[in-house]
Amino acid sequence: MDCIFCRIIKGEIPSYTVYEDDTVKAFLDINPDTNGHLLIIPKEHFKDLDSTNDTVLLHIFEVARSLKKKLEEQLHIDGLTLIQNNGEVQEVKHFHLHLKPYYKEEQSLMKVEDVHSLLTK
Ligand code: AMP
Ligand code: ZN
Repeated sequence: MDCIFCRIIKGEIPSYTVYEDDTVKAFLDINPDTNGHLLIIPKEHFKDLDSTNDTVLLHIFEVARSLKKKLEEQLHIDGLTLIQNNGEVQEVKHFHLHLKPYYKEEQSLMKVEDVHSLLTK
């Protein structure tokens, strides 16, 4: 199976990681909608919402809560939308939760590496 997110977890493809533990990894989306657009993925390959389990889902949301705080402190976000795609609208078939920041004022898109520096301070 050639899964791009499994390859990120194995370290075969680089990512701008902002948080990692034994079960999940959070990194910046390579094609962000807004500054600080993050993805949280389980380290184990689950295709979609149906194949996950409660333990992993709970932990992903605990990590989302802590990263929300980080986005507020470091990027001064005004809102945050969580999205999780399945089926025809899911491009990468490895479960992931999007964290998409909202800003009241329009922001120009920063380089992902600069956002990464701010979020890993
Ligand atoms: P979706 O499966 O539609 O929920 O979206 C997949 C997301 O993964 C998109 O927002 C992509 O920009 C993002 N993405 C794809 N490849 C990478 C990568 N190598 N590093 C970071 N984000 C990625
Ligand atoms: Zn995978």
